[in-house]
Amino acid sequence: MQPWWEPEPPQQPDQHTLSESSQSAASPILESRNDDKVSRLLLPLSLLAPFTENSTASGFFPVGYYCTVCGRINVQRFLRHRVCEGTACDSRTDPQRETGWVISVFSTRDRKLNSATVVPDDKWIAPTTAEPSTAFDNGARLFHYHLAVYDSGPSVTPSNVLSSGSAGTVDVRHVFNGNRDLLQGDASALFETLQRDVRIERSIGTSVFVTPPIKSGDDPALGRNGQSVWDQQAAFIESALSTYCRDLGPLKVRALRVHAWISVGKHIQTFSPGTKHLVLLCLGADIAFLSLPSNPNVKLNGKPRRECLRVTMVHGDIVVLSGSQFKFSTIRTGMCMLLEAECN
Ligand SMILES: [Zn+2]
Repeated sequence: MQPWWEPEPPQQPDQHTLSESSQSAASPILESRNDDKVSRLLLPLSLLAPFTENSTASGFFPVGYYCTVCGRINVQRFLRHRVCEGTACDSRTDPQRETGWVISVFSTRDRKLNSATVVPDDKWIAPTTAEPSTAFDNGARLFHYHLAVYDSGPSVTPSNVLSSGSAGTVDVRHVFNGNRDLLQGDASALFETLQRDVRIERSIGTSVFVTPPIKSGDDPALGRNGQSVWDQQAAFIESALSTYCRDLGPLKVRALRVHAWISVGKHIQTFSPGTKHLVLLCLGADIAFLSLPSNPNVKLNGKPRRECLRVTMVHGDIVVLSGSQFKFSTIRTGMCMLLEAECN
């Protein structure tokens, strides 16, 4: 096959008749194979490396790869899949490429830090308030915080905000599973399904891999097992809400989105749930969730506002956000995914 950066070879004028073409057919093919070997030797080794758990274990993630089927050099767009972008490439119809490779959740977590515990590493300061936690028979616990949100005016205090009505509140519910293996089984299975079946893509120059918002099991982003992948995600979220957040009433998942990262770092997001609730499920390494002022110019009692709630989610934990618009950042401690579900 011809690499894309080399000019087309001149056509052989004597290949028109059957007898001549049968004689000369062998040599161009051999030549092209030799060219292929030579051009591969000129490529950086990283483009030829296999794409597996072992080749990425040291924290290295390939930026691109050489397609051995058609000779095209592709950008490595997906978290776990390789799909050649050559329009005529035979590998595009290969069903094997629909299956991404998978790492288990244990290889993403720090074994020293994931022992079972009763209290999560959550911190808050006024004006955030916390309700007494609720314990469930299976060992899970619900922590419920009320976060005041100040969005207007150059300087506000809690009292004048409340009287002028310019503040909203955001309810943050943290369902903490205490790192109990029994409560994390479904999350571990979902972590593997998402890697295997869903093409989670990143844009060039960014560190986050993300799917578009998925609104049903027919979405092509869910891959060949579409409906069952949707059902597995929706069942997890709806079952957690009906078990731990009954006060919200019966809720259905309306849209799903998967974010994934391969290493430690920070990510900032804004959300405005309105009549909906936003559910975040942590899969893989721990993720700290921090509330941020949605308008950084607003001061509280003359001081710039900083985050006033920090929630640390362990693998399988969910955070439910309800209320007006606000901004949050997530700090991740390793390879992890955040499943975002809109529910109402
Ligand atoms: Zn190809």
